[in-house]
Amino acid sequence: MSELNLILFGPPGAGKGTQAERLRSDFQLPYIATGDMLRGNVKDGTELGQKAKEYMDRGDLVPDELIVAMAGERLDEEDAQDGFILDGFPRTVHQAEALSKQLSQVGRRITAVLLIDVPDEEVVRRLSGRRVCVKAGHNYHVEFDPPKHDDVCDQDGSRLVQRDDDKPEVVEKRLNVYHEQTEPVVHYYDEKGILRRVDGTRGPTEVHDHIRAVIATLRLEEDV
Ligand code: ADP
Ligand code: ADP
Repeated sequence: MSELNLILFGPPGAGKGTQAERLRSDFQLPYIATGDMLRGNVKDGTELGQKAKEYMDRGDLVPDELIVAMAGERLDEEDAQDGFILDGFPRTVHQAEALSKQLSQVGRRITAVLLIDVPDEEVVRRLSGRRVCVKAGHNYHVEFDPPKHDDVCDQDGSRLVQRDDDKPEVVEKRLNVYHEQTEPVVHYYDEKGILRRVDGTRGPTEVHDHIRAVIATLRLEEDV
């Protein structure tokens, strides 16, 4: 298989970022997370950040045209030409179609969409305990993956905080938005035969092992 163009899919809090961290070191692929990119824009006060912030604070999706332009530019960059891991994009069928169009124009396609399946109650547990470092957004969980020292990032020593959109009122909204606007994308990729489901309720290492096995199978299938 020449390139691995992967999408990590699933509800907020499914463990996409956690798995991406592991997969990018397994496969040396650039990691493109639209949520991180947007938060970077908000922090830097860019025009895009100013527009996106109100949607993000409410738990709504940022409008497609803004996201498609931002993700499209990132995918055009040099380091993404031999493969990538996408997290948080596409989140609507319209975004999925735009992505497919952009890739097909240069003879590329998505290799697989890895759906990390987690029920709503578990999402709530994971998001309510999620803590992220202020410097680089490294992920922790107060109960499932605590840092060595309270509220301090193991990797860069910066402070750990709770994301504003991980507060309970916004979590409920994000889950509704996922079911209404993002879940139809599962069907879109399933019909194309590239959806792979992974049980996300297991521990991070088991989920990682499962994803690696799925990727190994994909590679075998392509070689046949
Ligand atoms: P996403 O990127 O899908 O929003 P994250 O990777 O940020 O999800 O994970 C959400 C929270 O759940 C984090 O606090 C993370 O530490 C924790 N977490 C991730 N994977 C697991 C898992 N398999 N089991 C338990 N907790 C997990
Ligand atoms: P999580 O890691 O919990 O799944 P993200 O960090 O991916 O959440 O996204 C945070 C917020 O950024 C979303 O609630 C949404 O407002 C915005 N966002 C990120 N990606 C997209 C996208 N592809 N389309 C629209 N909005 C997006």
